[in-house]
Amino acid sequence: MKSNPEPMAVGIDLGGTNIRLGIVNPAGDLSETRSFPTQPHEGPESIINRMHKAFLEITGDHSGPVAAGLGAPGPLNSRTGIVESMPNLPGWEHYPLRDELHARLGCPVYLLNDADAFAWCEFRTGHAKSVDSFAMITLGTGLGSSLILNGKLWVGSSGMSPELGHIPISEVDDICGCGCSGHLESFVSSRAIRTRIRSAVTSGRETCMDIEKLLLSGFSIRKIAKYAQAGDAVAIEELNRYARYLGRGLAVLANLLNLELVVVSGGVSGAWTLLEPVVRRELDTQAFPLQASTMRIMVSQQSEWGGAIGAGLWALEACKTLQNTVGDV
Ligand SMILES: [Zn+2]
Repeated sequence: MKSNPEPMAVGIDLGGTNIRLGIVNPAGDLSETRSFPTQPHEGPESIINRMHKAFLEITGDHSGPVAAGLGAPGPLNSRTGIVESMPNLPGWEHYPLRDELHARLGCPVYLLNDADAFAWCEFRTGHAKSVDSFAMITLGTGLGSSLILNGKLWVGSSGMSPELGHIPISEVDDICGCGCSGHLESFVSSRAIRTRIRSAVTSGRETCMDIEKLLLSGFSIRKIAKYAQAGDAVAIEELNRYARYLGRGLAVLANLLNLELVVVSGGVSGAWTLLEPVVRRELDTQAFPLQASTMRIMVSQQSEWGGAIGAGLWALEACKTLQNTVGDV
């Protein structure tokens, strides 16, 4: 067994499609990575066993990790380590994930929301490295969010992370993934775009978008942006609507918290040149001038390993001083 004087942790990213894990050092360098399909239908027991097996594979040559950090989809309580549910993974209702994993791995396990894990990576190694407070917004099937305020990850009184996607933002009756209507996510998500474009096609609007192909491969704002760039009227309309509502969401953050930075992630880089002017215009219209002009918006450059790196870094730091990184800001 090699000696390993540098403390290291294992960072794990439990996603709906893939599980990624690797060894993370205090600088955020990743090594000994493993990635494998989640196979959500197999349920918690099998998934935890496969994480354990991969953990043993990657830590075999090391003197032992000080801890493991696990980023998982929520809602979950990072203080109790209990997952309330996982939207795309059945069988995890009220599941004591942290304790179950700890029983297998034998080292301290720190559970946090996957959006928070990604934000922590951005905070320690990315665009947010030089700021004290920022928000991270992940644009995908839904709208994920995370807040770091005065250098600390914001976790609410029930151990929950911010749910910017579920703030009521309109009286328009668009149904959100959570079942309510008028939430920000019911306008700013690939799920919302799919619903709107299908409805436009059904009502006879002319578009060059190949709706069947998009249904098969999955809607994303990046794909819609390509059609908008080619001049498709429906794509332009939907892209602008998406950007306007995103701008409104950022205006809430600007007026509420006067943040200096928002980092946007989720594969929007290809669409951002089209989205940004509309987002910025709406932000400038809806937020107070000083708060709006102070807020920079940047696109994350993290890879798909950002969640695993962030979870590993979080575990390393939480081991030392949990009370300084969670909770009271
Ligand atoms: Zn909602």
